[in-house]
Amino acid sequence: MKYIVSACLAGRPCRYDGGHCLEVRIAELVRRGKAIPVCPEVLSGLSVPREPCEIQRCEDLPLTIISRSGHDFSAAYYAGANRTLLIAEKNSITRAILKTQSPSCGFGVVYDGTFSGKLVPGNGITAGLLHTRGVRIFTEKNLPPELG
Ligand code: SF4
Repeated sequence: MKYIVSACLAGRPCRYDGGHCLEVRIAELVRRGKAIPVCPEVLSGLSVPREPCEIQRCEDLPLTIISRSGHDFSAAYYAGANRTLLIAEKNSITRAILKTQSPSCGFGVVYDGTFSGKLVPGNGITAGLLHTRGVRIFTEKNLPPELG
């Protein structure tokens, strides 16, 4: 069974700051053809590097994603989520390993929108969409049993 994985976990330098978050076991999954690396933010057309963004007020729907300088990037984040979902559906993928805390890929907790490092319960835009469409979400801190 294949996974969708956050591309930064596979070592792709696609983070907002141009870096990556390499997890060797996840990069190995990609190397063996068992995972497709995806960066929803790059898929949406955002550049590397780019301004950091956070979800504003996780209890309000639809969620709004604002950059540190106050620009609304919601449309790009939703576009990236939809494109990621399309990749999962086209490849019949039902499991994903996503990067914690990201406004796109985070699952369970995300930053609270104040750019102060505070975490609150919530999901990133892509993680939330995949989850609601039946994709089982793992993270680099909660790997699937076969990798744990
Ligand atoms: Fe990594 Fe996801 Fe952020 Fe892209 S959007 S850099 S894959 S956490």
